[in-house]
Amino acid sequence: MRIGFIGLGNMGGFMAQRLVADGHELFVTDLDPKAVAQLTAKGAQAVNDLAQFGHLELDALFTMLPAAQQVKAVYLGEAGLIAHLKGQPCVLVDCSTIDPQSAQTVAQAAQANELIMLDAPVSGGTVGAKQGSLTFMVGGPADTLERVAPLFDQMGKNTVHCGDHGHGQVAKIANNMLLGISMIGVAEAMSLGLRLGMQADKLAHVINHSSGRCWSSEVNNPVPAICPDAPASRDYTGGFASALMHKDLGLALKAAESAQQPVFLGAMAEQIYQFFAQNNDPSLDFSAVIKLYEANNRPTHERPSKPSTTD
Ligand code: NAD
Repeated sequence: MRIGFIGLGNMGGFMAQRLVADGHELFVTDLDPKAVAQLTAKGAQAVNDLAQFGHLELDALFTMLPAAQQVKAVYLGEAGLIAHLKGQPCVLVDCSTIDPQSAQTVAQAAQANELIMLDAPVSGGTVGAKQGSLTFMVGGPADTLERVAPLFDQMGKNTVHCGDHGHGQVAKIANNMLLGISMIGVAEAMSLGLRLGMQADKLAHVINHSSGRCWSSEVNNPVPAICPDAPASRDYTGGFASALMHKDLGLALKAAESAQQPVFLGAMAEQIYQFFAQNNDPSLDFSAVIKLYEANNRPTHERPSKPSTTD
């Protein structure tokens, strides 16, 4: 198939690589020339501007951009993709995590220009993107999904049709709210164990064979060297940026507010990630939230004595 791909960052880079490796003709662009060069070195062709995508007779075009602002900038307006691809049989697939309302707005604009669009945010992190084991949460017509399902299968292991336009994003923000909460929980529990003198690998082993087990403990453990492939084992680089987790929690809160649905822990997690991003490098993987506990991560006997509690 002839496929366009825009946004070759931590996730999109690996996803695009899998499509090239599978023999598809891939046409790519990104604001970062280094990201484009990495893909052209693997056989993709560089595209210089959005207008060029309109002349490539594509079967599908994927976007994997940071947030709704970039998604709207790329798709909408006179200089946007929708204007350049108007009336073509190309299926537009946005894999970025954005709010459901923006996804619906872009899909409606596509529909008004005789184009079909899917929102298809993903779960699985950079490890899943690299290994081709992502989960795609898809919103939009089921028959359109069928047309591009083989491409999802090359980048992921699970594709779930969640419903109409925007429902992929609903599933994604609910999942990521839980992920943010669970990561903070794992960071807190691991830190407590370390503080009480336990060996990190033994504690992680117990948790991962007990009822506390979750993706944040088993695949993306926040303590370095527990999971060799996880960002924590490479100074928290090359993962899911804390700034993006903060963004996703903000999306969940906004959606919850509009639905008048309480999200007690989601709101707390949003505050914790806001605090973290303000006081640390926000490009660090979201598992770096454990740094908030780091001052306490030494066993009690190695720490300065506690201040007296009596006046
Ligand atoms: P990233 O910042 O690493 O990559 C985004 C890429 O988009 C960058 O290379 C940037 O240069 C490019 N870009 C931005 N604006 C552009 C434009 N106008 N035209 C062309 N390129 C442009 O982000 P990421 O980690 O790859 O995440 C992408 C999306 O996937 C986000 O919405 C994120 O929430 C979601 N997501 C990320 C992860 C993860 O683990 N990193 C997991 C699941 C979902």
